[in-house]
Amino acid sequence: MVNDGNNDYHIHYEMTERNKKIKKQKVVIVILLIVVLFMLILILKSLIGLIFKTQEYKAQVLAVQEWEKTEIARKEEEERIRQSRIPKLTQEGKDNMANIYTSETKRAFLTFDDGPSTVTPTILDTLKQENIKASFFVLGSRVDALPETVKRIYEEGHYIANHGYSHSYSAIYSSPQSVLDEFNQCNESVKKAIGVPEYNSHLFRFPGGFPGGPYVAIKTQARELLTQNEILYVDWNALSGDAETTKPTVEFEMKRIQETVGSKNSVVILMHDAQAKKATADALPQIISWLKQNGYEFKNFYDIIK
Ligand SMILES: [Zn+2]
Repeated sequence: MVNDGNNDYHIHYEMTERNKKIKKQKVVIVILLIVVLFMLILILKSLIGLIFKTQEYKAQVLAVQEWEKTEIARKEEEERIRQSRIPKLTQEGKDNMANIYTSETKRAFLTFDDGPSTVTPTILDTLKQENIKASFFVLGSRVDALPETVKRIYEEGHYIANHGYSHSYSAIYSSPQSVLDEFNQCNESVKKAIGVPEYNSHLFRFPGGFPGGPYVAIKTQARELLTQNEILYVDWNALSGDAETTKPTVEFEMKRIQETVGSKNSVVILMHDAQAKKATADALPQIISWLKQNGYEFKNFYDIIK
């Protein structure tokens, strides 16, 4: 009986111990489960974070790529415009210039010599308002005096051609080489003013014009020298008469325009944007209006020297 009692006690004791063990194991399992769950949550959180970061990174890469593309396109467009403003003389351009005074349709080249001066900005304002591109035969000495004005002429799409450096007949016509030297000297001033080292207008206008005068022999030889150096020259076949009198008026210039344009189809109109030619700037809106009424389309030398 005693033994039985002992046995019961032992059995009871063993069961309690087992239960305790099981309970302990359960606690350990629960703790382990909690730890595992916690770690899983951590891993999941880092995974989600990583996905977001990857997406963010991808978006950033895309944005940078997009910006680079836009930047490349912008630079290409800038270069295209820059190149289009650098005259390139081809055979087609030479042929077009040889036929400058013939055209199927009515066209007018507005040309301004002897500038720039303080009159030039008024002319530029009118041209901008009318959306007309003209051509300026600048003097190197004036370019050096007003480089900012020359830059404006260039940036507004007008053709910058060459009228030599000094406009002193005795200097420029001292020899054919002097003519070429003055062309180059003026071209250097233009390059500096507009900031385009490869600029060459390929287009000269002889001070006083090519034909006639006391320097005709030098001019004729100079023309050969210019041609050898890929430089064309152009005179005019119509004018505003602003160099025919010391005090031109708007009325006088209008009259001369109408007389000299007459019934010509293709007109290269000589005008001046020198200091004393304020009347030309004043007459310009009327000159443009009259040419428009008579069916003329406005051109500059970019349209044909190409
Ligand atoms: Zn001149």
